[in-house]
Amino acid sequence: MKLIPLPAFTDNYIWMLHDGHQALVVDPGDAQPVLEALQRLSVRLEAILVTHHHPDHTGGVNALRQATGAKVFGPAREVMPEPLTRLAGDDQLQSLGLTFDVIDVPGHTAGHIAYFCANVDEAPLLFCGDTLFSGGCGRLFEGSPAQMLASLDALAALPDATRVCCTHEYTLSNLKFACAVDPTNKALADYTAKAQSLRARQQPTLPSTILLERQINPFLRTRQATIVQAAKAFDATASDEVSIFAALRQWKNEYQ
Ligand SMILES: [Zn+2]
Ligand SMILES: [Zn+2]
Repeated sequence: MKLIPLPAFTDNYIWMLHDGHQALVVDPGDAQPVLEALQRLSVRLEAILVTHHHPDHTGGVNALRQATGAKVFGPAREVMPEPLTRLAGDDQLQSLGLTFDVIDVPGHTAGHIAYFCANVDEAPLLFCGDTLFSGGCGRLFEGSPAQMLASLDALAALPDATRVCCTHEYTLSNLKFACAVDPTNKALADYTAKAQSLRARQQPTLPSTILLERQINPFLRTRQATIVQAAKAFDATASDEVSIFAALRQWKNEYQ
């Protein structure tokens, strides 16, 4: 299986997985980069997986369905380009001979879902849309901090080796904030240097892994003493784990 991030717009990736014959794509906000890749690789589009309703994730769905006849899968509880198969937590879908488990991850949007496959060429794979980013997490447009924290906890509990395919190249700006929150984290400093060098060569920083994110992502580390202390310095009223998470998210929103 080949896993390819197709760049779209300014900082989106449309993830494509293919076996040399058939392909699936995730969150095609634009059809054009997908159509070009299908032609270049001589593969047929079998399935389109969508994580949430934002236009930069759905804008190319109708054109791709029309051009290729691919089946479309998306969240059960969001407005989606019809027709599609609607999925929610604990549902499964089969594509390219693989089985994907659907995980409910509300927070960024109310009905956001993620797709997890336990075994793609011996390693697990996660398509998490705008919920988990490398070094950060999505903004809370529709869900509550408690929902987002539970969603991130569910993703953090996946196997260490899980490759994390996020939809945006936000890594450097996330790491700048992460270093401000967690300045003594050696793994974070090392990863920041590596990510800067990748971006200097116009290479994607993704996919990440769950193990790495658990080490460096402040939004997966909100129970660590250093993170709790930093969040309380930003918002003295933060006390329980949800308010610590909410303070951290608010701090990131305001951070330049
Ligand atoms: Zn979004
Ligand atoms: Zn997005």
